Amino acid sequence: MSGYVGRLAPSPTGALHLGNVRTFAIAWLRARSLGGKMIMRMEDLDHPRDKPGAAAQAIDDLRWLGFDWDEEFVQSERHPFYRSVLAQLDAYPCVCSRRDVESAQSAPHSGEQLFYPGTCRGRFRSWEEAAEACAPRTPCWRFRVPPDTTIDFDDAFAGHVAQDISATLGDFPLARDPDGAGYTLAATADDLDMGVTEVVRGDDLLPATPPQILIARALGREPPSYCHVPLVVGPDGRRLAKRHGDTRIAAFRAAGVSPERIIGWIAYTCGLSATDEPASLAGLVGRFSLAAIPHAAVVISSIPFARGNH
Ligand code: GLU
Repeated sequence: MSGYVGRLAPSPTGALHLGNVRTFAIAWLRARSLGGKMIMRMEDLDHPRDKPGAAAQAIDDLRWLGFDWDEEFVQSERHPFYRSVLAQLDAYPCVCSRRDVESAQSAPHSGEQLFYPGTCRGRFRSWEEAAEACAPRTPCWRFRVPPDTTIDFDDAFAGHVAQDISATLGDFPLARDPDGAGYTLAATADDLDMGVTEVVRGDDLLPATPPQILIARALGREPPSYCHVPLVVGPDGRRLAKRHGDTRIAAFRAAGVSPERIIGWIAYTCGLSATDEPASLAGLVGRFSLAAIPHAAVVISSIPFARGNH
């Protein structure tokens, strides 16, 4: 095995669909084509949004499609680890609601990234004190960003990215949990702890990356490399969702579509195959190349694998 370590990090907030699975296939093929190791990490820390049974269903769907992995982790079992990481970071509790942060913007903002001016810096002595002040809402931990903090990195697919975090984001949230068990802290700490060498994921997470690199450096570690690939979108250009029709893997399985049809479609959309003829994941390892993947998002205008075409 090479030293490459990749990971699949599903969130059990819903069923896997063609979009998630295409990204996972790219991550898996990238690791296996480089002779690397694969980690399965269930990111089940989003309590109100996590759906019962979705984690087991995701694992079952992925196995059915031909995925495998060498190690498995469940984030909800790792609270003590996240607590120990949080203790190493310069973080403080914040009680501001999204609306508070929005109304503190000095200029109209576009997109999802809000600038946080540090309202709660030095305001609370402890998480408990903050929790009391904003009950029944839950505070969040924020990372104290030093002045003039610019992060830049070369993404294996998206190219060069540079962001002045102190000017555009401010003290960003780490987790909405007393132990620090929330996406930004947990994913970053886990990638380091699990020895992940490259993160391959959807480009909706590109904006999450500079903060994750900053956290890694604050922990005295070198971050992994990153590779953000385009998403599958509906005809409206938005990320694949229910309104675009049923593209859940479970629905295709129930309709008798074979895993090879689904993988064949993925191979075609990734430029690994001239047609969407059936294929197996393992069979694509020798053909995989990041350079073959188109840079535009994949648009689904009608559901593939029409009835009678299995
Ligand atoms: N669990 C996240 C998601 O499903 C992915 C996190 C990551 O790849 O860093 O959106």
